[in-house]
Amino acid sequence: MANEIPQQIGPYLIDEVLGAGGMGTVYLARHEQTGNQVAVKVLSAALAREPGFLARFNREIDALEKLEGPHIVRLIEHGVSDETYYYVMEYVSGETLAQRLQRVKRLSWRESIEIGVQICKALKTAHNAGIIHRDLKPSNLLIEPDGTVKLTDFGVAQIFATSRLTRTGGVIGTPEYMSPEQSQGRRVTRQSDIYSLGAVMYVMLTGRPPFTGRATMEIVRKHSFNQFDSPRSIVSEIPHWLDEIVCKCLEKKPEDRYPDAYVLSLRLAEVPRKVDLSQQSAEKSAPLESDTAAETLPGESASPAPGEVGGTLMRDLMRAHVDEAAAGSRWSRLFDNVWILIGLFLLLIVGTFTWYRAQQPDPHDLYERGQTLMQEPMGTAWEKAQQECFEPLLELDPEQWEPRLQPYLTQLELFELQQSFARSRERLLRRKPQNEVERFVLEALQHETEGEWTQTDEVLDSLMELLGDAPEREPERQFVTQLHSQLREERYRDNASFPLVEAALERADALAAAGETHQARQIWQSIVTLYDTDPGAAPYVDVAAERLDAEQDLLTKP
Ligand code: ADP
Repeated sequence: MANEIPQQIGPYLIDEVLGAGGMGTVYLARHEQTGNQVAVKVLSAALAREPGFLARFNREIDALEKLEGPHIVRLIEHGVSDETYYYVMEYVSGETLAQRLQRVKRLSWRESIEIGVQICKALKTAHNAGIIHRDLKPSNLLIEPDGTVKLTDFGVAQIFATSRLTRTGGVIGTPEYMSPEQSQGRRVTRQSDIYSLGAVMYVMLTGRPPFTGRATMEIVRKHSFNQFDSPRSIVSEIPHWLDEIVCKCLEKKPEDRYPDAYVLSLRLAEVPRKVDLSQQSAEKSAPLESDTAAETLPGESASPAPGEVGGTLMRDLMRAHVDEAAAGSRWSRLFDNVWILIGLFLLLIVGTFTWYRAQQPDPHDLYERGQTLMQEPMGTAWEKAQQECFEPLLELDPEQWEPRLQPYLTQLELFELQQSFARSRERLLRRKPQNEVERFVLEALQHETEGEWTQTDEVLDSLMELLGDAPEREPERQFVTQLHSQLREERYRDNASFPLVEAALERADALAAAGETHQARQIWQSIVTLYDTDPGAAPYVDVAAERLDAEQDLLTKP
C-alpha cells in the first residue's frame, strides 16, 4: 500500500489517516467548500481492477446511501478521482469495539446489553430496507465518547462477495463472527446477522469469540460443527437469561435463532429488569424461608428462632394465652405447657402449607392449558394464557419455565405492543375533531382501522401538501410524519414475513452478480408487479425498483 498521504480526493481535503483495513485506507477529511468533517475510504487499486467490481459497487452503494438511522454510519456519497474509487462516510469520533476490547479485555453484562440493543436497532432499520449487513464484527462498530454505537460497512461484504480477493481471504478474513450458512456459501438472511450479533455479544461478555483457531478453515469448521462454552460458564456473573439469549443467537440452524432484530432487542432490554426484580423478590422472600423449610423439614420450624411468619403466629398465640389466663379458663393451664404450644404451632404450619398446595394447580396442567389457549385466535384467550398460566409458571420457577415458554412470550410481547397501539388509536377516534388538521388525521385513522391503507396514505400525503412549509406549521407536520411512519411500521410488523420475496431478491442479486441481468430484471419486475399494493412489502418493492433503475442507468450510460 502506498505510504504517501494524498492531499485531496475529489472535493475533500485530507487531514490524516484514521486507519487501514482489508479494502483500503480510511482518511479524516474536510469538504473544501462546506468544511464538513467526514471519513473518506479509498478502495485499493487491486480491488477496483477486479472484473465486474465497479458495476456491483455502483449498484450496491446507491441502496446503501439511502440507509439512515441513529446507529448506522451514514454513507454520504461516492465517486472516482484520478482513477481512485472512494466513498465518503459520516466521521465518528471515538474508538471501534475491537479497540475497546483490546484495552479492557471484556465488558460488564449491562454494558454489553446496552451495546447489543443499539446494534439491534441498526440491524432492524437495515433489514426493513431489505439490506443484510453480512460482516458484523467488533471492528465495524464505532463507539462515540457518549456511548452511542454506530455500525459501519453495511452491505460492503455483498459488494465484494464474488471478488477474487474475498475468495482468497484477502478482504473478509475474519471468520470469527460469520454464521455457518454464510461461510458455507449458503443463503444469507437476517438471521445470519443475528448469529454475528450473538458472536459479538459473546466476545464483549467473555473477552473471546465463541470459536478460535489458527487457520480460517479451522474456525469455519468449528462454527458449523462444534459446541462453544456457554458465556456463563466462563463469566459466572452473567445472568442466565442473557446467557440463553446469546446461545439462541448462536444456534447453528438459522430458524432456531430469533426471528428478527426487533424481537431480540426486546429480549435483551428486559434482562436488567428481570435481574433487578428477581433480586428485589429474593430480598423480600428471604424471611419467608420458614415456609420452604416446612416443606422439607417440618420439625425444624419448631426451632426457637422462627422467621417473621412464625414470629407473628407466636405473638398471636401468646396473646390468646394471656387473654385466656385473664378469663381464668382451664385452657390457660394447657397453654402453659410449651410442648402443646409447639405441637399447635406445627399443626398450623402443616395446615397452612397443605391448604396452600391445594390452592395451587399442577404446573403441567397450567402449561397445557396455556398452550391450548394460545392455539385460539389472538385476543382474550391469549391474555388469559399470559395472566392465568404463563405468569404463575414464571413466578413458580423461572429457570425451568422461561426457556419452554419463550416462543409464546415472544408472541405475547408483540401482541401487547399491537394492543397498546390499538387502544390509543381508539381513544383518538372517539374524539371530536377540534380543527381541520385533526379532522383529516381522524379520517386517515378511520381508513387505517378499516384496512384501507391506500386511502390512509392519500389523506396523509394530501394533508402534508396542505400544511405547506410555513414555519408555524412545523409541529403539525412533525406529528403527521411521525404518525404516518408509525402506521407504516405497524403494517410491516403485522406482515413481517415475506420469505418468497426475500428468496427471490437474493436469487436476482446472485443472477445479476453473475451477469445474467435479463433474468434478474424479470424477477425484480415481478416483485414490483405482485407486491406494489402491499404496504408491508414496501421495503422489498423499493429494493427491487431501485435495482431496476440502477440496471437501466447502466444500460443507458455508455
Ligand atoms: P476494517 O476493514 O478493519 O473494518 P476499515 O477499513 O473499515 O477497517 O476501517 C479502518 C479504521 O478506520 C477503523 O478501524 C476505524 O478506526 C477507522 N474508521 C473507519 N470508518 C470510520 C468512520 N466513519 N469514522 C471514523 N473512523 C473510521
